[in-house]
Amino acid sequence: MLKTFKGGLHIPDNKNTRSCPIQAYPAPGKVAIPMQQHIGAPAVPLVKKGDYVKKGQLIGSFENGLSCPIHASVSGTVADIEMRNSYTGYGKTAYIIIENDFEDNLDESIKPYDGNPMQASPEQIVELVRKAGVCGLGGASFPTYAKIQSAIGKADEIIINCAECEPYITENHRLMLEEPQYILGGAEILMRATGAKHMTVAIENNKMDAVAVISEHIKSIKQASVQVLKTKYPQGDERQLMYAIKGVQMPAGKLPADVGCVIFNAETCVAVYHAVYNGMPLISTVVTIDGDAVEKPQNFRIPVGTSIEDVLSNCGGTKDSLCKIVSGGPMMGTAQWDMNAVIMKNTSAILALSDKTQDNHEGNCIHCGRCINACPMHLMPNYLAAFSKLGDKENAEYFNILSCVECGSCTYICPGNVPIVQYIRTVKGQILAEKKKAAEKAAKEKEAQSK
Ligand code: SF4
Ligand code: SF4
Repeated sequence: MLKTFKGGLHIPDNKNTRSCPIQAYPAPGKVAIPMQQHIGAPAVPLVKKGDYVKKGQLIGSFENGLSCPIHASVSGTVADIEMRNSYTGYGKTAYIIIENDFEDNLDESIKPYDGNPMQASPEQIVELVRKAGVCGLGGASFPTYAKIQSAIGKADEIIINCAECEPYITENHRLMLEEPQYILGGAEILMRATGAKHMTVAIENNKMDAVAVISEHIKSIKQASVQVLKTKYPQGDERQLMYAIKGVQMPAGKLPADVGCVIFNAETCVAVYHAVYNGMPLISTVVTIDGDAVEKPQNFRIPVGTSIEDVLSNCGGTKDSLCKIVSGGPMMGTAQWDMNAVIMKNTSAILALSDKTQDNHEGNCIHCGRCINACPMHLMPNYLAAFSKLGDKENAEYFNILSCVECGSCTYICPGNVPIVQYIRTVKGQILAEKKKAAEKAAKEKEAQSK
């Protein structure tokens, strides 16, 4: 029987680009590379206007805490360093603008691993992954080196998340068909680094051609298997994946490593492979470009820092019916308000959607309860939306707003057209910001008392 989780939705998957091979992207004339593309501290620019940089050169880093180094995705001259909106929508971050010289000059620091990477120590692997700026490419962008460190000695099982449950997105599907050796090679390295004894590759049953390819390639790896999952949204969420595969309900605030597992996305494994085997930093990413308002949907491997405008023009441009551009999937992605917004390490899709797909009329709750049935976290989304709308943080917290994974299933299913997840996201962000502020204040007071 196909494994799955409780709750969730069966939604049209719209995987229109499943047969579109990953294409090399035409070199952009200019890239704008943000210093904050990950969870943790933003990187600090290491170059200045007028400097010449090589492709793959380290151009930003922060060494005193959780962060990810940033590298040039093209060779050329630094035209400027600008402060622009950060990808989170909160605050600004520095962007290094590089004019491409189209020479493709690779930085001398990029060298293949000297020896057999499968004999490298966990510490060596962690350092190679850190130096290459690899972060989680399934959405959260958590620095991968820190995830490995947190799992060492705790995780017996490594799960490779190939669910790709968001509609439209096919980048992981294409990687499984075209580059299974890199997904599994990276996963083996991650197994070695974490000390995990078994690998499970989790794939939804709307990608049976990929199941066949991965099943064939995985035969050469001892202690590894493929798990086919029922196609259901949000199957790719870590908690739902854990329940489907291990039958474990993860308590709020806990990580998969706390229950003996660690989960990596398929494209993250590819990035780890190239970081360790080839010394290649993460400077490009596979992106699905789709939606009913783009002329030519396809999959591209795009240099980090390329503008959305450039990407859409390389897909034949947009149609007159264009209403909304989304970075990421339609359920959890972020609507874009600026065509200068760029492809980042974790960008999985750019969707150009027409007015036919949008209904921005906000209605009222009719107390049907459908959102409660759909919620994979077993919350009361209707209550959470109502408390959030009133700004009642106390009751929102009492009803576990912090456990919401912002999957958007409640909003999708709501016949009352209540923008439930938007309300929740706003108040959840405020509560988390207040908690962070309180923790910083408490830490400062403790430090002052100890002096
Ligand atoms: S689905 Fe919408 S209308 Fe139904 S209970 Fe939830 S919020 Fe109310
Ligand atoms: S309340 Fe949160 S976790 Fe539950 S369905 Fe809505 S967005 Fe998803």
